[in-house]
Amino acid sequence: MSERVGQMSKSQRLERLLEISRTMSATLDLIQLLDMIIDVACELTQSEVASILLYDSGAGVLRFEASPGMHRDDLREISIPLDSSVAGWIFTNSKPMVIQDAHSDPRVYRRVDEILNYKTQSILGVPLSVKTETIGVLEAVNKLDNADYTEDDLEVLETLAAQAAIAIENVRLLESIQETNEELKRLDRMKSDFIAIASHELRTPLGLILGHATFLQEFIPPDHQEQMEVIIRSAMRLKAIIEDMSAIAHNEQGQSRVRRNPFSVSKLVEETFNQFRDSAKEKQIEIGFDIPEDEALIMDGDQEKIEVALSNLVDNALNYTDAGGQIGIKAEGDDEMIKVFVVDTGIGIPEDEVERVFDRFYQVESHLTRKHGGMGLGLSIAKAMVEIHNGQIWCESKEGTGSLFCFMVPANKEKAQKAANVFRSG
Ligand code: ADP
Repeated sequence: MSERVGQMSKSQRLERLLEISRTMSATLDLIQLLDMIIDVACELTQSEVASILLYDSGAGVLRFEASPGMHRDDLREISIPLDSSVAGWIFTNSKPMVIQDAHSDPRVYRRVDEILNYKTQSILGVPLSVKTETIGVLEAVNKLDNADYTEDDLEVLETLAAQAAIAIENVRLLESIQETNEELKRLDRMKSDFIAIASHELRTPLGLILGHATFLQEFIPPDHQEQMEVIIRSAMRLKAIIEDMSAIAHNEQGQSRVRRNPFSVSKLVEETFNQFRDSAKEKQIEIGFDIPEDEALIMDGDQEKIEVALSNLVDNALNYTDAGGQIGIKAEGDDEMIKVFVVDTGIGIPEDEVERVFDRFYQVESHLTRKHGGMGLGLSIAKAMVEIHNGQIWCESKEGTGSLFCFMVPANKEKAQKAANVFRSG
């Protein structure tokens, strides 16, 4: 119970209110906050006890969430009906109520006194409201010295309740954000586990299908070759998906190691162009590349990983550009940094989704009806591969006009420079 402070003047009460409202807004623990509120309610209204009842929307009743220590366990079990109690009336009407003689007042819910073996003499109750919503009731009980509650008591309790309701709501919101966060983390862990297990378990049977299908292809008569090719092509597609999944799993488990060796990014761009040239032609898309004439752009990094990043970008450019469009791959840089660009004149990405395309499994909603059946992993893998080299990847895009994807990676100056000199003189 609160430390009592004799008769307080109005200005003393207001000063105390100001002081307590600062402490309330800094308190992040709900129980501690509610206890503080009832202590102050007793102190400011000079009451014997005070309590907070919050609305339990599931059961449609009020429950004691804070009450004096000696009554706490008993009160926690009690639910207060809305239609036959003072607190219920205050809550339902969102208005205060003063009862100077509780003994003879039929509106008082008697069960609480019976259970606690307590004698309620007077009640001053106010609603706890946030904006237009009432979340509970703050009650002060038994004005000391058998006195009556005054207008000032009501005013001060209402002011306290207004501050308290906001503080309670903030702490509740914070708690629910924390809970949601924990839940999201749990779901993310489940998703990661699923990716790791699924990619691992699918790999072996798929390897067998591919191996046997390739073997059988040699013995199958020419009129069934086409069917066999469909089987092999589909299995290869599945293999690519599984590889994407295990790249993600490895990366998440911190198992992606960078095997550094100097290599020429210019050459990689040219090889990637060659790799995609035929499929671009098939889709009637013009593709070209641009690398510095006499600059190999040597990078000390993991060629395979940078290759995966670049291929994913070019693959996307091809998937999201219609016939008649253009794609360009470009590299530039110096001994410190190397930049690689993939530009297309394709369907583009809505402005508010550009940031999210690098998230795992994210696919632009309007693209979901497209012909290309991706999984939304390609860009997140590209991002991981670039970031593992301490690089950055980003996108600029305009819906209906096209996209530019760019990544920038450190060349790792010293080692790369040495290799570049060898490259130049050779
Ligand atoms: P997906 O396998 O779906 O292509 P990605 O992670 O590679 O997965 O890409 C995520 C999403 O970003 C794609 O589903 C697509 O909606 C959008 N996207 C990626 N690249 C491009 C691009 N060059 N042009 C337009 N949209 C793109």
